[in-house]
Amino acid sequence: MRNIKEVERRKAELRDEFTCQDCGLTEKKYGKELPIHHIIPFREFNGDWERANALSHLIRLCEYPCHRNRHKRG
Ligand SMILES: [Zn+2]
Repeated sequence: MRNIKEVERRKAELRDEFTCQDCGLTEKKYGKELPIHHIIPFREFNGDWERANALSHLIRLCEYPCHRNRHKRG
């Protein structure tokens, strides 16, 4: 069985082209894999993980400061 999370993660990678969607930092410059951020919190989907992991809900952010800032704001 294929890991659906892994599939969605790869799709998000392709879409974002390995750059932080807030500051434009590339994964190459970052030096490691950029984390995936769920734009809409997982709990909002009442366990509907398929919808929660839909491509449109995933973006790539550098851990600091962008990912951290998003969670601070939210
Ligand atoms: Zn960033």
